[in-house]
Amino acid sequence: MTLDHYRKKRDFKKTPEPKGRSSTKRKKTIFVVQKHAARHLHYDFRLEQNGVLRSWAVPKGPSLDPKDKRLAVMTEDHPLEYANFEGIIPKGEYGAGTVAIWDQGNWEPISVEEDKLHFILHGKKMKGEWVLVRLKNDPKNWLLFKLK
Ligand code: MN
Repeated sequence: MTLDHYRKKRDFKKTPEPKGRSSTKRKKTIFVVQKHAARHLHYDFRLEQNGVLRSWAVPKGPSLDPKDKRLAVMTEDHPLEYANFEGIIPKGEYGAGTVAIWDQGNWEPISVEEDKLHFILHGKKMKGEWVLVRLKNDPKNWLLFKLK
């Protein structure tokens, strides 16, 4: 996992988003959900793994109702510092619009496989056991849902 894809999409002279640096081992792993009012409002769900934030765009946002499974479209890994980013990405830049933190905290893995992540979230809104599972139709498409 590298940040090449993330950096290629952005002009850091124009956007206030962090460029990111490589990180060292950390004890607790973080997650964040950022409400991103871009052309289409969505929620970016990000989990720290191997020094970067693995990222999914959730068009409808996470649901706290276990019956409600939400589409989560995998996007490029983001730097860890992005977890603290809030602000305005200027017009004409990639993802132009307002970014605000919607929830954040730590997470713990229960099982981490290539196509399925089962984990515990310790956020303000998102708590307990959650699953992200890759759909068969398109490798970018996953479902995010809470377990009962
Ligand atoms: Mn976004």
